[in-house]
Amino acid sequence: MAKANKAGRNTRLVHNGFGIDPGTGALSVPLIHASTFAQDSADHFGKYDYSRSGNPTREALETIIAELESGTHGYAFASGMAAISSVLMIFSPGDHIVVCEDVYGGTWRVLTGLLSRFGIEATFADATSVEAFEAAIKPNTKAFYLETPSNPLMKITDLKAMANLAKEHELITIVDNTFMSPYLQRPIELGCDIVVHSGTKFINGHSDVLCGFAVTADKDLAKRIKYIQNAVGAVLPPNDCWLVIRGLKTLGVRMEAGQRSAGIIAEELSKHPKIKKVYYPGLESHPGYGINKKQSDGAGAVLSFELETADLAHKLLENAKYAAFAVSLGGVESIISYPAKMSHAAMPPAERAARGISDSLVRLSLGVEDTKDILNDILEIIELYGGK
Ligand SMILES: *Cc1c(COP(=O)(O)O)cnc(C)c1O
Repeated sequence: MAKANKAGRNTRLVHNGFGIDPGTGALSVPLIHASTFAQDSADHFGKYDYSRSGNPTREALETIIAELESGTHGYAFASGMAAISSVLMIFSPGDHIVVCEDVYGGTWRVLTGLLSRFGIEATFADATSVEAFEAAIKPNTKAFYLETPSNPLMKITDLKAMANLAKEHELITIVDNTFMSPYLQRPIELGCDIVVHSGTKFINGHSDVLCGFAVTADKDLAKRIKYIQNAVGAVLPPNDCWLVIRGLKTLGVRMEAGQRSAGIIAEELSKHPKIKKVYYPGLESHPGYGINKKQSDGAGAVLSFELETADLAHKLLENAKYAAFAVSLGGVESIISYPAKMSHAAMPPAERAARGISDSLVRLSLGVEDTKDILNDILEIIELYGGK
């Protein structure tokens, strides 16, 4: 489909196969709002009949995202959780999934509060250890569910090693690739079977659309996901698809800018006496540095750090001038968030503490602002409220 397949990553983001509309010459994909499509024949319906089943604008986005993730089939959903829940619905009562222990809070909620009611069982294990995942496999295990880097402690999972172990046991591997985006990491190339995304984050990139994706290169899995997308109907509306197609054209420049700032800020903060710990896979001191370097094209634009006290963390969150104190990440605007009360609020405090998500931990997603403005703002707030 995409004409410029062999071109570089940034060229492919712009020349994505839907760059020029053949009908009009327009340099953007036509936005088709129709919910239904008139048919000519009572025997054979056309390619489109009803927009839950298929919409041309959504199909353009689904084709683009599949290509970016090195898959063959892509599906767009109304949110990341809609995509993740729909993918998890391929399982049946009695099935068991091994899940990374610091999985996104919303995914944890779906697994423990919803799918558990339908007899789908999950075991949470340390995904930095292939042995821990192997030990969690049971006779009814059907899949591994992974995130790397994980949220918010940026732990790194060896995707190739996990995919190989999964294959040995005839399991499928599902990876939430939200933090890296396909610009930096393509799990299907490493042997994983399904990639899911909260496209709300880097893929759309402008903090103005809620969306999610599932991509696979396996025909049978594609069929099962498509069936659920059409049956459940948590599809992404055409207008939002159009916005995401626009946002995706700058994915590369946005990721590069955010990643550059993240690297500089991580280095600076790791030397600061009021910062207890910095979690960023681009630091050589990070335990997953080597694996991340091998399996991805960068360390990403998100880092977490633990301040000296919870009070200082609160001061930073409440006084940051440029980074918005908000849930979410991956926007052109930097976003600072508080995992204990935001992404991991659904998790009971004891569970959270056991996973190392303390009350003095903050997460910073770098946008495209000038690095020095974000860094100096953080340093000034720490100086002002950090005491002696
Ligand atoms: C935000 C997020 C989700 C959920 O996506 P929504 O678009 O908010 O539904 C899932 N996984 C990760 C890693 C996320 O950051």
